[in-house]
Amino acid sequence: MIRVRFAPSPTGPLHIGNLRTALFNYLFAKKNKGSFILRFEDTDKERFIKKSEKHILNSLKWCGLIPDEGPDNGKYGPYRQSKRKHIYKKYIKYLLKNKYAYYAFETKEDLKQIRNEYKEKGKLFIYNSLTRSKLKNSLNEFYFKQVKIKKKKATIRLKVPDSTTIKVKDILRGNIYINSNSLDDKVLVKSDGNVTYHLANVIDDHLMKISHVIKGEEWISSFPILQLLYNFFNWKMPNFLHLPLILNSFGKGKLSKRNSNQFNFTILPLKWKDPIKLTTILGYRELGYLPEALLNMLAFFGWNPGGKKEIFSLKELISTFSLKDINFTSARFDKEKMKWINHRHLQCKSVSDLTRLVKRSLKEKKIYFNNDQKLQKIILRIRSQCTFVYQIIEKSIYFFKTPSLNQTYISKVLLNKNINKNILFLIIEWLKNNDKNNLKLLKTFFYKLAINKKIKISYLFKILRVSLVGKLVGLDLYFIIKILKTNVLMKRILNLIFLLN
Ligand code: GLU
Repeated sequence: MIRVRFAPSPTGPLHIGNLRTALFNYLFAKKNKGSFILRFEDTDKERFIKKSEKHILNSLKWCGLIPDEGPDNGKYGPYRQSKRKHIYKKYIKYLLKNKYAYYAFETKEDLKQIRNEYKEKGKLFIYNSLTRSKLKNSLNEFYFKQVKIKKKKATIRLKVPDSTTIKVKDILRGNIYINSNSLDDKVLVKSDGNVTYHLANVIDDHLMKISHVIKGEEWISSFPILQLLYNFFNWKMPNFLHLPLILNSFGKGKLSKRNSNQFNFTILPLKWKDPIKLTTILGYRELGYLPEALLNMLAFFGWNPGGKKEIFSLKELISTFSLKDINFTSARFDKEKMKWINHRHLQCKSVSDLTRLVKRSLKEKKIYFNNDQKLQKIILRIRSQCTFVYQIIEKSIYFFKTPSLNQTYISKVLLNKNINKNILFLIIEWLKNNDKNNLKLLKTFFYKLAINKKIKISYLFKILRVSLVGKLVGLDLYFIIKILKTNVLMKRILNLIFLLN
C-alpha cells in the first residue's frame, strides 16, 4: 500500500519549491492507487504563522492536489503535530529509558557562548560524543547530580553513537555513508516541552504508515538523524527520495524569494499578504497562469519521462509518472518557458472551462456578459493569440465595453471628415432596415457603398472599425458585426459621428 505525505511547516506562504514536493508525492500516490496525506508540521511555535495553513490549503486546492487524508479527514489523525503531543510522550520516555536520548541543560545563551569560543579557536562546535562529557547534561554524572531537580527545564537530545558509520539509502542517490562524529546530538524536545522536527517527523511517518518519503534535497542533512531514530525505535524505515534543488536560470544558485524580486517573477502559486510587513506578493494565479501549466512546469523540475512531449495535463502526468524518471540534476526555473507552457495549456483547455474563467475575470472587472454562446465564439477566435486568460479579455474588450474614442488619434487615421460622417450615416440607415446577420447582403452593401462614394473598401472598413473598436485593431470586422447587437453597432457609429462634428 503506497502512502505518501506532504508535510509543510506553516511558517509562511507555500512556495513553488514545496508545491513541487507536494506534486511529486501526489503523482506517485495517484499513479499507484495509494494515498496522498497532508500533515502540518507546526511544532516550531516561534516561526508559526496562522494564515500560512490557509495559504497552503488554498494553493493545493487551486492546483487540484486534494489530499486523501489531512486535518479535515482521515483515520491516522490528528494531522497537526501541535495536536499530537500526547502521542509523542511515550516515545520520548522510551528513548530516555534505553539511553538513546539524554537531558541537556544548556540555555540558548550557553550554547551561543560555547559556539563563539570554538569559533575563536577556528573550530566548529558539535554537541556529540566528542564534547558532551564536558557539557551540562545527564551523561555528565558529575554535573547531573547537581541539577537533577531541574529536569523539567531541560532539553532532550538524541545520543548519536560514537564513531560509527551510518548508512542511509536514497532512491535516487543510492547508499550514503556518514560518520556519526560529524553529527550533532539533535534536540528532540525543547525546554518548553515541545518536540522538534526530527522526532515528530519520524514518529508520525511511522504511525501514519508512510511507505515513501519524497522531499526536497535541502532535508538531506537530517537524513542520518532520522535513520538513527528509526534504528532506535526498531522501526522499518520508509523509502526515501530527496528531490533535486530548483535553480534559477538567471542569477546563480537556488530559486529564492530574493531573486524572485530581483528578476520580477513570483515563487508563490497564490498571492500572499505578509502579516507583519503588510506587503503583498502576487502568485501565479493572480498573474494569469493556469494551475495545470504551473504543475506541468514543476513536474519537469527533476523529472523527465523521455520523448518529445512537453505538455501534460494532470491526468497525463499521473499516468506517465514514475520514480525511475526522476533525475539527479537540478532543475532550472525559466520564466519564458513557463509562459510558453501556459500558452500551450490555454490552447488545450476546453472552451467551456475557458468561458467560465473569462466570465469570472469579467465579473471581477464588474463586466457582465451573459451570452455564453457568443463568448465562446469570441474565445475560439482569439485564444491562439493569447498566453493568459486576461489577454483574451484585453484583446476582446470592445465586445464588452463601449470603446472610448480619442479625437487626436481619429483625426490622424480618418482623413476626410465629411466622407466619413456621410458613410457612417448610411451604414446606420442600412442597419435600421436590414438584417446584419445576412452576410451576403451585408457584403454587397459595403462594396456598393464604397463604389458609390469612390473610396476604397479598405478605407470604409477603417472608418467602421474605428467606430466599433476605437482603434485599428481587433478581429475580423464581419465577425465583430455578427457578435455586437444592432443597437450597439448603431450607438457606437453614432458616437463617432458626434466626435467628427
Ligand atoms: N516540515 C518540513 C518542511 O517544512 C518537511 C520535511 C519533511 O518532509 O520531512 O518542509
